[in-house]
Formats: sequence, structure tokens, C-alpha cells
Amino acid sequence: MDYIKEKTPPIREERLGACMAFGGSCCDISNQSKKGCLFNNNRTFSQSQGCQLTLSLAILNTIRDSVIIVHSPIGCGANLVAQAGVSKGYQKLRDPNAFGLRWINTNLDEVDVINGGEEKLRSAILYADREYRPSAIIVMNSCVPALIGDDIDTLIEELQQQVAARIVPVHCEGFKTRIQATAYDAVYHGILRTLVGIEEEEADPVIIDELEELKKRYRISRTVNVLNVSSMSRSDEQGLVKLLQSLDLNVRILPCYAHPDDFEDSFEAALNVSICATHDDYFVEHMKSKYGVPFILRTIPIGIANTNKWLLDIARFFGMEEQAQKLIDSEVRELNQALAPYRQFLQGKTAFLGGGEIRIITTAELLHSLGMEVLGLRGFHFDRYGEGLLEELMAEIPESEKAIINIGTGQPFEQANLLSRYKPDVFVGHPGGNGWANKQGIPVFPLFGQAYDYMGYVGVYEVARRLTRTLKNTSYSQNLVKHVRLPYRQDWYAEDPFAYIKQDLAL
Ligand code: SF4
Repeated sequence: MDYIKEKTPPIREERLGACMAFGGSCCDISNQSKKGCLFNNNRTFSQSQGCQLTLSLAILNTIRDSVIIVHSPIGCGANLVAQAGVSKGYQKLRDPNAFGLRWINTNLDEVDVINGGEEKLRSAILYADREYRPSAIIVMNSCVPALIGDDIDTLIEELQQQVAARIVPVHCEGFKTRIQATAYDAVYHGILRTLVGIEEEEADPVIIDELEELKKRYRISRTVNVLNVSSMSRSDEQGLVKLLQSLDLNVRILPCYAHPDDFEDSFEAALNVSICATHDDYFVEHMKSKYGVPFILRTIPIGIANTNKWLLDIARFFGMEEQAQKLIDSEVRELNQALAPYRQFLQGKTAFLGGGEIRIITTAELLHSLGMEVLGLRGFHFDRYGEGLLEELMAEIPESEKAIINIGTGQPFEQANLLSRYKPDVFVGHPGGNGWANKQGIPVFPLFGQAYDYMGYVGVYEVARRLTRTLKNTSYSQNLVKHVRLPYRQDWYAEDPFAYIKQDLAL
């Protein structure tokens, strides 16, 4: 893969043939995905759509010592208001001196649409550098400047000579893609082009200290980059670092909550380890093609089976399988003892899951290991990475072949129909869509949270403990449903939930 010379990354519809509309069983989607035509699916009606600028912010608002400039009308990125305090708190968990979120909007209006918005962007960049003296200024390009033809890259090239901060252009215009996860590629594209790597310098006349050089090479040979996601907690990170340190590995955490300088020598690593393929494939593929750093991209360490796979894959790379297996055996033994009372309570309870494809498939495995039944899944999109994980899930838990799967970003009307049909004991979903389920009287459990454990062995225990608590007292959702209703007519609930999905009949 090599798109780094291009100013903008490709969209995922083209790069991965990602699917954004599907309704059927897990077995059906797996078969159709293997035929390679899922990307042809479409909707005859779409209730809502995700914007990649919004998702890009989920990573970028974590970057320390930076200023974000949203080059757009004032509404784009307005959701940052909700993130300001949160972002600062979580940044401070990594660095007590962190400033938190600092952002500027260029506030494009009708006049700018006629005259161009470059002058507003110029003054915003100069202001950000002068006022805040940040290490990086991140410029997020939105739909309007892209449509009116602002040449932000030439402007940034010119201004880079005048400001101290490194300027990172991120082309995350919402209109370009219906696969919101393209945002991750847009963010990594900007980081790879501007923050990773050191400028070529003149040959250094200083004689190299051979001992120091050997020490450095050894350090690199034991260093892994663990690519975190903004939806995980600091304690999730610490738990995974602890597991890898017990294999005598040095761990560098990127990209969320990192300082811009942390990316510079990130290619000095023996291995890139992804936590989520949806998040990282663009970055690790480029780090391999440009710097020769190999990578592991198979699964996310959620649930016992997937944490074991994640850890063993890394250990295998370093020839430490035996050591890792001993660690796994001892962790799993202790965990199983601790889980016993929760398994007893959760046995036979049913769940419906909604969120990113990687998280929901691995969470399905986690819930199954606690004795629960997963009735259905709703993924934002589906691609080759989901296909691989689903294949493993169906091989390990054959009954999951029959579970229903719905693909679509947003589309809460489809979710409402499915939940009224399947009536699960709990909906485990993305916090952005959980309110809909709650209003149907279904208890909800957030699929992630930056304030609690979800990953690794500790995460399994915490999910079991918190799920038990959620299901022991369901009065909130039961009371809520008495006073509110969703805005759909009753006859929608009797219709096929996938009535507006147009699947490729050639399949
Ligand atoms: S879709 Fe375009 S206009 Fe709408 S929020 Fe996203 S970038 Fe802004």
C-alpha cells in the first residue's frame, strides 16, 4: 500500500470495498462477503449518515500539545463542545501538564463560499501558532472548502516556513464517503505525511559509538507500537502494557493521547500491534511499506479467546510462545474462578449488539463465554477484517451462524424494528445509539467507555460484573418506556426491518 505521496487518501468504498448496507444472518453475510460483492448493496431510504470529520475528531482531540483548526462553517465539529473537559481529563492521565483540547473554527460563511476561505485559514494558523505555541496545528478540511476549491495544501506548505508548529492537514470532508471509518485513514494519512520520520540530513561527521548503536538496535528489536483507540480507557492501556512487559517488551502507545513528537521515531520498532483493524490497517500497511515495520492486525483483545490470540500472536513473533502460554494459563485460571458467580447469573440471558464490526464480533464471543446468547449484531460497516473475525466466531460458536446481522451507520429505525422483534434482555451498543434502545424498555450496556475496563483479562471480569449489575436492576428502562416512545408508526414494527436495503441480486 502506498498512498502517502498523494495529498488525500482514498475512501474505503474504493480501497476496501466496504459494505454499508446488509440485513440477513451471519452465515449469509459471510458467504456474500467471500464472493466480494457486498459493496454493491445500497439503501432506498437512509435515515441518517455519519460524517468522517466528526469521527476524525475522536482521534485528533486526544493529541496533546496541539491546536485543531476546523476549516468549515461553524457547525462542523460543534460536537467538540461536549469533548472539551473530557479530553483534558484523559490527556492529564497521560501527562499532568497537558492543556486539553484547544480548537478554532474558521467560520466560513456565504461570502467565503464566493471569495474562497484561504485567507481565514491563513489567519487562523498564524493566530494558533502565535497565541498557543503548540507542537502541532491540525487543519481539518471539511465539505465547504473542498467544494469551493480551497487549496489548503499549498497554503500549509507556504505557512510551514513561517510557523514553529508542524502543520498537519487532514482531508476528512464528510461528503466524500458513506463509510465513516474512512476517517481513520484521513487522520493517519496526515500523521504519516507530517509527523512520522525525520527529515533527511547531511551525513553526520561524528563517529558512531558502536556500543550505543548496539544498545539502540537491541532496544528497537524489543519495542512494539501498540496502536490504541480513543474509545479505550487508560486502565485498558495499562493492562495491555503490563501483559506485554511480562514478555520483556518495551511498549510505545500511539496514536491517541500521544504528543506530536511521539510519532517522529515511531518507525523505530520491531512490530506494530493493532488493537482494531478497522482503526489501523492504513497506518500499519504504510509503516510496513515505507519503513519495513511488520504488523499484527488480527483481532482486538476483548474476551478471553481474543485476548489469548492477541497475546500469542505477539509472543510468536518474538519466539516467546511458551512464556506467553504460561502467562495465559495463570491469568485465565484466576479469571475463571472470579467469573463463576457472574456466569451463574448471566447464563441464558440474551443480548443484541451494535457498534463497530471488530468490537461487536469480539464482544459476542465474550458474552457467549459468560453463558449468554447473542441474538443479533448491528455493525456500522463490514469489510475483510470483519469477515475474518466472523469466520473465527462461527467456527468456535456454530450457533452464531444463525444470529441476525444488520449493517448500517445510524439507521435507528432498523435498530428499533429489530429490537422490538427480538426483545433481548440487554442491548450492548455504541453510547451514541443506546438511548433508542432504552426508550424501548431495553436495558443498555455501553460497548466501550474511556472510564472503565473492557479489554484484556481484567476487562472480561469488569464486563461480567457491570453487566450483572445492569441486569439486576432494570427499573430505569422499564420506567422510561412508560413515559416516552420512539417516533415510528406501529406498522413499521410489523414490516421487514431490511425493507429499505437493496442487496445485489446477482449474488
Ligand atoms: S458532512 Fe460536511 S458539512 Fe456536514 S459536518 Fe461533516 S464536514 Fe461538515
